[in-house]
Amino acid sequence: MANVTSRLNPAIWPATARTDSKSGELSLGGISATELMERFGTPVFILDETDFRARAVKFRSAVEKIFGPTAKVYYASKAFTSIATAKWLAEDGVNLDVCTGGELAVALAAKFPTNRIELHGNNKSIAEIEEAIEVGVRFIVADSLIELDRINSIAGSLGKKQSVLLRLTPGISAHTHESIATAHEDVKFGFSIASGAAMLAAVTALNAEHINLEGVHCHIGSQIFDETGHILAVERLVKFIADVKKNQGATLHHLDFGGGFGIAYVDSDDPMDIESVLTRIHAALTEQCAKYEIEIPSIAIEPGRAIAGPAMVTLYQVGTVKDVLLEDGKTRTYISVDGGMSDNIRPALYGAEYSALVANRSSNAPTTDSRVVGKHCESGDIVIRQIALPSDIVPGDILAIPATGAYGRSMASNYNHILRPPVVVVRDGSARIIIRREKISDLLALEEG
Ligand SMILES: *Cc1c(COP(=O)(O)O)cnc(C)c1O
Repeated sequence: MANVTSRLNPAIWPATARTDSKSGELSLGGISATELMERFGTPVFILDETDFRARAVKFRSAVEKIFGPTAKVYYASKAFTSIATAKWLAEDGVNLDVCTGGELAVALAAKFPTNRIELHGNNKSIAEIEEAIEVGVRFIVADSLIELDRINSIAGSLGKKQSVLLRLTPGISAHTHESIATAHEDVKFGFSIASGAAMLAAVTALNAEHINLEGVHCHIGSQIFDETGHILAVERLVKFIADVKKNQGATLHHLDFGGGFGIAYVDSDDPMDIESVLTRIHAALTEQCAKYEIEIPSIAIEPGRAIAGPAMVTLYQVGTVKDVLLEDGKTRTYISVDGGMSDNIRPALYGAEYSALVANRSSNAPTTDSRVVGKHCESGDIVIRQIALPSDIVPGDILAIPATGAYGRSMASNYNHILRPPVVVVRDGSARIIIRREKISDLLALEEG
């Protein structure tokens, strides 16, 4: 019988992760890491269905409880999408945000109700806009005047009126606390409120014959650990809604404040409790609406990472181990695994941190200063820059990296012609592949002539 041990921090590991009290072996969804490796190979992404769905439902229940029954959660597909997960979300009453034709194709293949999909993107192609309007997405979130014009004319030629939100830039840098009140932001996304671009966009959209301007949207960043930025953004969006009402006499009744809710990757990360965060945002929303004497808009949020991230674990097999003498006379143990930056680009891209566990056994060996690296031809191909790991790790051991569900498989590449790993869903002692491992023939199939 498996037992939880103190090694498995529930903020980092999926709900069904356990380590066996005797063997020390990790199990996910009731299946041991060794069995998962033997059946599916490594590297492999293990997706805990119970955990993913529970997180999605928790968001849904929280927004409905706090903002009322019209409030919606749009899961951000870009964090990780597949037909299987889209079907879960459809069943569990969570909506879907897509930002390309490819993400939309997955949603359509899952028969996701199209009136629960919204389309994002700062440079949607004509074909993407056409398809979205044709299939009847709930919202297109417009990002530029050129795009408003395209949406209007495409909707007109299809004999439709498209519901639109405006993506606004409330001038908030969510990552840097000092600059949290910056009035202007040098980013590619959205219409700036401060510069007047947003009001011009609202006037343009309100006057467009085939556009139904329903509301406003913002997304202030990702992996955010405090709600100050979201609150400020909501306040600025409400003021904007009030200004539109005052200047144009038009009511924008929908407000979407995006995603960005942070998760724990390492023990020191302290993610916010989502209910209390949303409660504080709700308080700011009602206060601001009262101040400007406008009706409280219907609310949507767009979590991606906070649903998918902790639900997946990557299993790698250790290939080589070597000690490297450092300048200060100390040594660092380099542990090479059979994947790396092709299945997890985040450490190289953002300096992201991860934790790790020897998954196939327990170890009482003293720990040693270690670095977990991949098999790519770059010294920046690092999975974990610095971590204390047991000094008895040998080739063949399985290393489990938790919290790899968001922006892992979805950002995977074929660098060095490495095959992208499969995604295996575990639940109640059974496992099934939802995305298979790539084959060399998949890569060669792209070659012509
Ligand atoms: C990326 C993105 C999200 C999701 O962000 P998370 O940090 O994964 O929650 C939501 N909305 C938009 C518009 C995004 O671009």
